[in-house]
Amino acid sequence: MNDGYDPFDFVNIKRSEPEKKLLSKRKKSFEEIYDRFDQQQVNKQSARCLDCGNPYCEFKCPVHNYIPNWLELIRQGHLFKAADLCHRTNSLPEVCGRVCPQDRLCEGACTLNDEFGAVTIGQIEKYITDNALSLGWRPKISATKLPFKVGIIGSGPAGLACADRLTRVGIEAIVYDKYPEIGGLLTYGIPAFKLEKTIIKRRRSLLEEMGVSFKLNCHVGKDVSFESLMNQYDALFLGMGTYKSVDGGFDGENLQGVFQALPFLVSNTQRLLNEPQQCTLPDLNNKRVVVLGGGDTAMDCNRSAVRLGALSVHCVYRRDRESMPGSLRELKNAQEEGVNFLFNRQPIKINGNDKVHSVSFIKTEQVFDKENKKHKLIEISGSEEELDADVVILAFGFRPNPDSWITNCNIRLDAQQRVVAQEHQRYPFQTANPKVFAGGDMVRGSDLVVTAIWEGQQAAFGIFEYLRQL
Ligand code: SF4
Repeated sequence: MNDGYDPFDFVNIKRSEPEKKLLSKRKKSFEEIYDRFDQQQVNKQSARCLDCGNPYCEFKCPVHNYIPNWLELIRQGHLFKAADLCHRTNSLPEVCGRVCPQDRLCEGACTLNDEFGAVTIGQIEKYITDNALSLGWRPKISATKLPFKVGIIGSGPAGLACADRLTRVGIEAIVYDKYPEIGGLLTYGIPAFKLEKTIIKRRRSLLEEMGVSFKLNCHVGKDVSFESLMNQYDALFLGMGTYKSVDGGFDGENLQGVFQALPFLVSNTQRLLNEPQQCTLPDLNNKRVVVLGGGDTAMDCNRSAVRLGALSVHCVYRRDRESMPGSLRELKNAQEEGVNFLFNRQPIKINGNDKVHSVSFIKTEQVFDKENKKHKLIEISGSEEELDADVVILAFGFRPNPDSWITNCNIRLDAQQRVVAQEHQRYPFQTANPKVFAGGDMVRGSDLVVTAIWEGQQAAFGIFEYLRQL
């Protein structure tokens, strides 16, 4: 059948992304910055896929999405079939389409990436799910109900993925979370200009329709004891993430005007959701803001500060641009919005009496260490400099902070306080307590949303196998 497809479409059609909102509007708004592809754009962009025999994009995608297959389905107009296939490997494709650093994952591995521009995979994944859901598509779930109940602690990406998979095979999943909305950092940590909160609310309705129950505003260890959950459920899954900020380890971090990234981002989202704020959001209007760090959380702080009216925003990172751990797309978006980047600068002190007035740095250089065969960072003596600041936001990453009940329940932690539960145990992601499974950041350490989804899904498989043996 000739449906207009030309095998040279990857040359004839240029890679394109949806338009972004006007910069002047975007800098004042917490709405998502990208418009949506229409059907014609999706047909054209998906036709660029070469359907490589050995698709590197699939390999590089942490959930191993069947990318060329759903690109072909959507090119042919089979929206619901494409949504089925997206959901076979990914519990939250509309989220990943928005927040994955595609330039480092699927699109970075696309065969076309170097010479012709990668297929716009993330935006097409978002299109498929958004449109299929709005037209009434729903995931297939087993008609047979199994006589098991699983408690899930934490409704972030790992917990939601685990609940999704269990429900689909007929196991009842009950999800506990201390916040009033589901999503964990998807709702409270990632700013709405990347992921609007209605997207997570829609997923919540969908999961509830499937049979998942949510017990929100319920802090396990305070409002309900872990022991009572152990008695109530056939298995438990822990997906409580990493919420403890990593310190910079230099003087001045406790000065007035210095904030940690996560409470800053969470409080801003709570403000937008009209919920009580966990800490007071600083007034950034007309302030000189300096963000320390180079990951996606630092970009989220930079871009939030712009929207909160900062006079200037400087992002300071100790290595070079290429070594930034975050997505290049987010770096570009931040630069477009007026964020200034200072690379190869190591902060050494935050200055002020009781209130911050500047940050001191020393310039750095990356040199190749022949012995360890990797680059190491050296400070260039005599290169100290100072940058004026009214507000400093520290975005050095997060580490696990497990509640004390975890260790009382025969669940082992490693030296970094991560729960020990790996993929290649007898049952994937089972902890030292056979009835308890865990996944996501609290096992792996702070990482991507999509890797947490993968671990939640794999843990659901482990729980299923474990329950079958009971
Ligand atoms: Fe790419 Fe992430 Fe989607 Fe995988 S889940 S295809 S890495 S956007």
